[in-house]
Amino acid sequence: MPVPLSANIGRIYEQIEAVCAACGRSPAEIRLMAVSKFQPLEAVKEAYAAGARLFGESRVQEAETKLENRAEFPAMELHMIGALQRNKAKTAARIFDCIQSVDRNELIAELALHAPSRGKPLDILLELNAGEAAKSGYPDAGALAGAVEAALAVPALRIRGLMTMAPLIADDGAAARRAFRSLKQAADNLAARYPEADFSTLSMGMSGDFQIAIEEGSTLVRIGTAIFGEQP
Ligand SMILES: *Cc1c(COP(=O)(O)O)cnc(C)c1O
Repeated sequence: MPVPLSANIGRIYEQIEAVCAACGRSPAEIRLMAVSKFQPLEAVKEAYAAGARLFGESRVQEAETKLENRAEFPAMELHMIGALQRNKAKTAARIFDCIQSVDRNELIAELALHAPSRGKPLDILLELNAGEAAKSGYPDAGALAGAVEAALAVPALRIRGLMTMAPLIADDGAAARRAFRSLKQAADNLAARYPEADFSTLSMGMSGDFQIAIEEGSTLVRIGTAIFGEQP
């Protein structure tokens, strides 16, 4: 018998509580995202039935097909967390509540064309490249500031914070910690410089490093493997 997803989700909440207790944070500050990319609809249903409400998908086509009947999941909040091609921006702006992986101004311009027809603003996170061979994201603080200015000029887009993926380096988490610390620093700097924008969401931490991310200020952890097991 496979382990029920509710047990996995329960265990992760316990781990979040433990690390919060150890570092003096409140678990209420941390949102748990179930990353359901490559998982079948049945697994999404099981996680939803177990209480998961925030889901992350990394491909527009897959999310559109798999979750076409969103009425089945009335309280679901769905975020895009993967690399987003410009020609998928229109669909993405329709089906996602938030695009976490905004990594270039060209994409902001494209989302600006499609977000107005949603009827409500599209939430976005700006992705910071963590360096050390990380693949995606704005390269540095200057580029992030440019992105903030581009997004602030678009009323249909609403900045909610920053996102990063730690580099996969086997070093007991030191590189991940550096990456998370620079994301927190970048958010603090941007919040001081652009008080009109919201930088309260820090999306950082995955199955292998979410405890470190919480210690460094994460407010949203993106968990795939530890909930669903290895990708099918
Ligand atoms: C796949 C993925 C995750 C989840 O990773 P796990 O290690 O399976 O928890 C989180 N964030 C992003 C951007 C991903 O692509």
